Parts: sequence; structure tokens; C-alpha cells
Amino acid sequence: MILAPMDVKGDVARAVDVAVIGSGAGGGPIARELAGEGYGVVVLEEGGYFTREDFNLDPADSYMKMYRDAGQTITLGLPFILLPMGKTVGGTTTVNSGTALRMHRPVLKKWQLTHGLAEIGEEELNLIYGHLEEYLFVKRADPEVAGKVATTFLSGAEKLGLSCGWLPRNAKECEGFGACAFGCPSGSKQSVDVSFIPDAVGSGADIYTRCRAEELKVKGGRVTGVRGRFLDPATGRPDGRRIDLEARVTVLAAGAVFSPYFLLRQGLANSSGQVGRNLQIHPATQTIALFDEPLGPPKGIPQCCYVDEFKGEGIMLEGGTVPPEIHALALPFAGRRNAALMASYPNMGIFGGMISESDSHGRVLDLRRPGYRPAMLYNLRGRDVVKAKAATVLMAEIWFAAGAKRVFTPFAGHYELTSPRDLKRLERSRVRASDIMGMSAYHPLGTCRMGGDPEWSVVKHTCESWDLEDLYICDGSVLPSSPGVNPQLTIMAMAMRCAGFIDERLSS
Ligand SMILES: Cc1cc2nc3c(=O)[nH]c(=O)nc-3n(C[C@H](O)[C@H](O)[C@H](O)COP(=O)(O)OP(=O)(O)OC[C@H]3O[C@@H](n4cnc5c(N)ncnc54)[C@H](O)[C@@H]3O)c2cc1C
Repeated sequence: MILAPMDVKGDVARAVDVAVIGSGAGGGPIARELAGEGYGVVVLEEGGYFTREDFNLDPADSYMKMYRDAGQTITLGLPFILLPMGKTVGGTTTVNSGTALRMHRPVLKKWQLTHGLAEIGEEELNLIYGHLEEYLFVKRADPEVAGKVATTFLSGAEKLGLSCGWLPRNAKECEGFGACAFGCPSGSKQSVDVSFIPDAVGSGADIYTRCRAEELKVKGGRVTGVRGRFLDPATGRPDGRRIDLEARVTVLAAGAVFSPYFLLRQGLANSSGQVGRNLQIHPATQTIALFDEPLGPPKGIPQCCYVDEFKGEGIMLEGGTVPPEIHALALPFAGRRNAALMASYPNMGIFGGMISESDSHGRVLDLRRPGYRPAMLYNLRGRDVVKAKAATVLMAEIWFAAGAKRVFTPFAGHYELTSPRDLKRLERSRVRASDIMGMSAYHPLGTCRMGGDPEWSVVKHTCESWDLEDLYICDGSVLPSSPGVNPQLTIMAMAMRCAGFIDERLSS
């Protein structure tokens, strides 16, 4: 059952086989796999439960309901970076764009060779990816519903002879409502809330929503369960009621920011000192192009096509049609200038460029701030600043090739490019991290990394903690480096693998 606080009377105390903290890309698959094997599974999810009936295409409403900090979480450092995260059943997958890519092979090779993860075999991983793609109905975005922004951008990329195409997505019959980030109103996107979680519940799992795990129960080097508190839906604060789970195995799947924070608060599982370190986020810049003619109806898929010509250098361009509310925020101007440009919204297109970090590593910290609030320190450094500029220049080149008259960028001194000459000026300029206004990132990773050496990693290749028996960590935090592409499929693949090891442990 999916239980809201009002479905629960008083405190809860239960003994279960598996307690899972978090119901996103990591927690959902584990809950489904283990409930399907007949284990008693309980999931604690801090966010609320929302369905198609609640997904009303209203960005402000969905930021308030389904995002942490109403979608305004930022990293501290230069530049400051918006890092939105979901807080709802299905985790961030409920509000993500549905891109479902396998990670680049060289990244896996690096994990095997540098991080001591030889046990994660390519063949095994491909089998899991294949299973997930079938289960989640992954297929290429349909150009018929992708929208004119995407076809225009791709036409520019093709003119320049760049490698590009339609993204694989976990969407069944996408109609291009353009609202993936606010909950899919047609139910087409196969996020965890409409796939793994209902299947887990069908196999007997219980999901307690608005229920925050706060403390692991530890006895003699073993984790024996978890304690948490129910939250008042109106205030988000504890309502006075508690939950106490006795569990044979506990899985921490609270995401790459909240899993390390959860452990740091208690000083647990950190003999390596690596908990909270190595934060990577795939920082992204964006460009907006202005055309003489309208690009067509403002309908389409927000993230449906890509240019991957420079993926080997850590640059991946992805985009499509986004709603006006997001468009307005991405313009480098405020006030009247913003309003004047937004009057031309039908003539504008937007595209994003994300980079895989070479030099930048952030950190999640517990600064003992009031409430339940981690801090994320992150500075964009060295080659990554250069890559962010290169991604922006590449997008601008593509827009001009597609016929754009003006291109807006987030680089100070280069906010508006009106000619190839302006583009060259940006290309030749020396930029600093502090010159980039309004970066965003969507993929926190790496803060409880897996590895073959307990001195340098937090979990084994099985996702089991090196320090505490019967504790598994499985979400974006265990990926040892950014996979170079959108990570949800890889996080799910690691979760499927982890569920297999938990099954072995429970049945032995
Ligand atoms: C706008 C946006 C678009 C994106 N688009 C894509 C995309 O197209 N493709 C892609 O691959 N990736 C995309 N991503 C990223 C992807 O969704 C995430 O990488 C993935 O969901 C992370 O999985 P996770 O299990 O680590 O965390 P999450 O999916 O975030 O799940 C963690 C869950 O744990 C809960 N939780 C945290 N702490 C506690 C606690 N103490 N007790 C109980 N519950 C807790 C949280 O509320 C949350 O629901 C996107 C992200 C965003 C923000």
C-alpha cells in the first residue's frame, strides 16, 4: 500500500526483511525486485504521493509539491548552480525528462581499472540495461511530437555535419505535452512512481510517504533497522509521530545529496572519510536563439534530441521545447528586457549543454544548520570552465547555422550574440567561472562512491557498506564518477544488481 500520514494511526513499529530509504531511481527498483522475491519490504519516502490527477501543467504548483526547496536548491561556490531535486514518490524520476541512455563504455572501463570495479562486467551491465529498456518502454523520441525547436536545432547540427539524433526515452506513447519536469500528465513517462513502485506495492511492499528516515539502528557493527518521523503535509515539519523498523537489511537510497547527509549527521559508514566527497553534477549551460519567424506551436518534448559529436571531450548537448516559465528564467536579462523578449517566445528556441567534469569535485556537508538541510560546496574549475564555454559556442554555432538572428548565452560580456563575429569573440575570450550566470545541474552523483578499496570508497561493488554489515547504499551517490550521460538508467541498473546481492544475503 502507499500510505499517507493520515492513513497511519499513532506511532508505527514493524519488523521487516528490507527497509528502503527513498523511492527514486535507486530505491524503486530495489523495492520491486525484493518484494517480487517475496520479502517483506517497507519504503520510507520523505515526499508526498502524487498522480496524474495532480499533474496540472502548472510549474509553480509542481515545484512546491514535488521538488525539494520548491526547486530552488543551489550549490555554494563559483558560479552558484541551481541543483533541483525531486521529493516525492518516484524521487527525481517523477519530475525528470525521461532520457534513458546507457553510460559510455570508456567510463565503465575507467570504473573497472581506476576504481577497482572489475566485478561490474560489461556483458552483465548490458543485460540489465536491456531488461530495463524493455520494462520501461524505452524508445527514440518521435519527431512527430518532438516540436519545432528540436527539428530546427537538429537541422543546424546536420548542416554543420555533426553527429546528432533523437534521444531514447522511457515514454510509452508520448504526446509532447512538454511538462515532463512537472509530472507527466498523460502517464506516458515510465518514471519510478508509475513503474517500479506500483509493481512493488502489487507484490506486497508498503510505502510510507511524508515519512523521513532520520537514524540508523546500529548494534555491534550491524545495521538492524531505521527510525524516522512522519511529516505534517502542510508545514513539512515532524508531526510528532514516529516510525521504528526492525530490518534484516536496510537500503539507503536517498539520492547523492541526502544519502551522505543522512550518514554525516550520524557519523556513520565513513571510515574512508569519503562520505559527502567527490560530488559531481554534470553542470549545464544553455543558449536561447531568436528567429525572425515563429518556430511553430509551443508544444513538444522538453528533452528529445542530442548532439554528441564531442561526447569524448565531455560535452553533450540535449534539448527540445520547454514551457515559457522555464524559458523566461533562462534568459540572461531580468525586468523589462526579459518581458520584451518573452513577447517573442514563439520565435525562440532553447537548448542545453551539459559537461562531464574533469577538474571539479564538490562536497556535501552537514553544517548543523537548523532543520534537515545539507550544504553543497561546488566550484567549477579549470578544464570544466573551458568545456562550459565550448558547449555554449557549439550551441550558438548550431543555432546560427539553423537561421537564428540572435543567440543569448549565460556568459558575462557575451549575453547577446548577433553575428558570427560575436561568436568568435566569445570563443577567443578567457572566461572565469564567475562569468557564468545561471548555470544549472540535474545529476548529483558520487558522494558515497563504490570501489574496490575501503580506504577510498564507501561501498563495495555490491553496494554494501565497507563499515556496517546489512547496510546497502544504492542511488546516484554510489556512481564513482559521472557516466557522461543522463544517469537514471545506470542508477537503476546498479539497483537491480544490488537487489540480486541482497537476495543472496537474505536467502543464505
Ligand atoms: C529536472 C530534472 C530532469 C532530469 N532529467 C533526467 C533525464 O532525462 N534522464 C536521466 O537519466 N536523469 C535525469 N535527471 C536525473 C535523475 O532523475 C536522477 O539522477 C535520479 O532520479 C537520481 O536517483 P536517486 O535514486 O539517486 O535519487 P532520487 O531519484 O532523487 O530519489 C531519492 C528519494 O529519496 C527521498 N529521500 C531523501 N532523504 C530521505 C529520507 N531521509 N527519508 C526518506 N526519504 C528520503 C527523496 O525525497 C527522493 O524522493 C533529471 C533530474 C532533474 C532534476
